[in-house]
Amino acid sequence: MATDRFGRNIHYLRISLTDHCNLRCIYCMPEDMTFRPNAELMQDDEIFTLTRIFASLGFDKIRLTGGEPTLRKNVVQIVNEIANTEGIRSVSMTTNGLLLNKLAQPLKDAGLQRVNVSIDTLDPEKFKRLTRWGKVEEVWEGILAAEKAGLKPVKLNAVIATGYNEEDVIPLAALTLEHPWQMRFIEMMPFAGATEFQLTQMVTAKQMKEEIESELGPMEIVNDGKLDGEARLYRLRGGIGNVGFISSVSLPFCSSCTRARLTSDGVLRMCLLREKELDLLTPLRQGATPEEIRSLIIDTVWDKPWGHGLAEGAYALNRGMSEIGG
Ligand code: SAM
Ligand code: SF4
Repeated sequence: MATDRFGRNIHYLRISLTDHCNLRCIYCMPEDMTFRPNAELMQDDEIFTLTRIFASLGFDKIRLTGGEPTLRKNVVQIVNEIANTEGIRSVSMTTNGLLLNKLAQPLKDAGLQRVNVSIDTLDPEKFKRLTRWGKVEEVWEGILAAEKAGLKPVKLNAVIATGYNEEDVIPLAALTLEHPWQMRFIEMMPFAGATEFQLTQMVTAKQMKEEIESELGPMEIVNDGKLDGEARLYRLRGGIGNVGFISSVSLPFCSSCTRARLTSDGVLRMCLLREKELDLLTPLRQGATPEEIRSLIIDTVWDKPWGHGLAEGAYALNRGMSEIGG
């Protein structure tokens, strides 16, 4: 079991399969973003080797992310191999949903259990403005395909930005009146690439909740307020799904964080919002043994930062969000 110095059992690994993306969400990356050459990304066998090592340390929950993970060549085979790794009990994915119409069923058949699909508005024009060219209809088809394939419960993610989609929290939350989905609103966090936008356009969970309740009535708290992953859940009167808020900035949940992140270039990052990292891919390519990599991971996990430093103005600007994976 991998434990940090504060006694947290770290067993959840988010693996970024690529930093490449088929959208350019305004709060995530600049329009002229440059991506890493493929040779710098972990190759399939390197992902499998590292996954086996993490699993041997008690990591049992994997989330695949990106960039856009569905753009990764061989994504279905990668899911299959990870899902069949001894010790791995759950494999999920965060995706923009554009390719799910085609991939949801093959991914499910390969062993994927759940997806989180990002959708920041239901309005086609606003969606285009937020993503720079995305078609919301394609995301919607992807969500329905995921549900049909049994990738459940379907969870949707929305990042809300002042001047772009504040009012959209209402129709998005209202989806839970008709669908058994979890609609999660994420507070925008600062990274490299779009830092000024992220710092100035952020909407707090409290503001989003007030906006929803002013229009759709009071929500009741679910699970006595216990977090579901990172989200605090509520239910609208008459709702069949839940509305969640991920308040990473205004009400951090660092004390219960069990996550580690492996970037697409094979770097281990123990806090999304701290710059400290450890390169695992270079030693792996230089012939380090599984035992040596294991020992690097154990030391890095032990040193997991207690929490982020946003409140003190400590921003992690060495990477953009799409390079880490969320
Ligand atoms: N491309 C996939 C997607 O969009 O779902 C996976 C990668 S994306 C980086 C993962 C999640 O991070 C998405 O839900 C996205 O909305 C969210 N995200 C991106 N930039 C963010 C930011 N600055 N603050 C908070 N969440 C952000
Ligand atoms: Fe791509 Fe996801 Fe970032 Fe949007 S949030 S640009 S879909 S990685």
